Amino acid sequence: MSAQKFKAPRGTFDVLPEQEAVRRRVVEVARRQLEAAGFGRLDTPIFEETDLFARGVGESTDIVQKQMFTFTDQGGRSLTLRPEATASVCRAYLEHGMQTLAQPVKLWTEGPFFRHERPQAGRYRQFTQVNAESIGSDAPLVDAELILLAGDIVRELGVEGVRLRLGSLGTPRARAAYLDELRTYLRSREDELSDEVRGRIDANPLRAFDADHEGTRKVMEDAPTLMDRLDPADSEHFAEVRSLLDRNGVSYEIDPTLVRGLDYYTRTLFEFDCERLGAQSGIGGGGRYDGLIEQLGGPATPGCGWALGLDRIALALEGQARGGGPAEEPADLFIVADDSERERALSLATELRRAGLSADLDLAGRGIKGQMKQADRIGARHALILSGESTATLRDMTSGEEREVDLATVAETLSAP
Ligand code: AMP
Repeated sequence: MSAQKFKAPRGTFDVLPEQEAVRRRVVEVARRQLEAAGFGRLDTPIFEETDLFARGVGESTDIVQKQMFTFTDQGGRSLTLRPEATASVCRAYLEHGMQTLAQPVKLWTEGPFFRHERPQAGRYRQFTQVNAESIGSDAPLVDAELILLAGDIVRELGVEGVRLRLGSLGTPRARAAYLDELRTYLRSREDELSDEVRGRIDANPLRAFDADHEGTRKVMEDAPTLMDRLDPADSEHFAEVRSLLDRNGVSYEIDPTLVRGLDYYTRTLFEFDCERLGAQSGIGGGGRYDGLIEQLGGPATPGCGWALGLDRIALALEGQARGGGPAEEPADLFIVADDSERERALSLATELRRAGLSADLDLAGRGIKGQMKQADRIGARHALILSGESTATLRDMTSGEEREVDLATVAETLSAP
């Protein structure tokens, strides 16, 4: 027998029962707000054809170049665990002919995503996102609605210290002209840049704004920004998004250096940070991706969306005094039975569960005293101590008060307000 001790793979973690309540609440608040705003839930597969992400996320991105969990299946196809949601949602939009529905089509989803990143607090190789996508309209209203919803979800959850940063990337044409200008600028100060940034001037010069490297940061302080080079139509679009956010009392900072690690963004770009978190402070972000669907082989179709990082939101809430939400509901009752009654205890628990109550029982051969202790430990409201054929003693675990109850009506007794 091997003595090997297995651990969860690097960059992954188990979510323990006591950690579930906060996570469930995040999904529930998001679900309620999104569905109330007309978003329908869409679940896509955990893996897709590798090409979908190569084309959809962008060949030059870190995600595609370094972070994908790619494997070959037994039929020789290259598949990849999804690193993000938007490409899959757009694939589904096309595959199911959603262009023929009333536009925009508003979809949300939630689940695990996979990126082979260097693990650290708040950055994992399997992480969970809630996503919202609004496909088929380029109206600034779409961008504003999405940003308002993300902000309201985070607010209702009670995450403290949240900041919204906003920028615009313009259209591909303006961006291409700007990128050439930026490349020329970076080359003019090449020897001050980090090796990594220098090596990617051609492939992805915008990444230089993201760099931690001291010299690179200095160079970027004087770099031209895309916000100053937007086409009039893009400037106007951005101004409208801003004015809609202003009208709804959203505070934000304009960040001309905002870049995201995905290639497909056009126009509006935004990011939510939580100052309570350390280096990995981004709790969500997104933007407009008007070119993506065409890039995936569909007709030119605008879209906009965001992802909220569930793990980081849970971390932020766990770190707050209020803990972020109610704990598990206590069980209605714990059935206490001596050895001769154990089988009956299971039948009774089943009957009560079928009647909609939460009922637990001893499964470890404890004595009566041990069972009372267990009832206390799990925080049960009542202990039901089996004694006679058709009656039992119901003990209120808070007051200690006991009374005889008829087993046939115990479900009704407990359900009564
Ligand atoms: P992105 O899909 O990169 O725009 O990320 C959106 C949000 O997902 C981020 O703001 C994070 O909260 C979360 N996120 C992205 N990557 C990771 C990761 N590796 N581990 C944990 N959360 C992540």
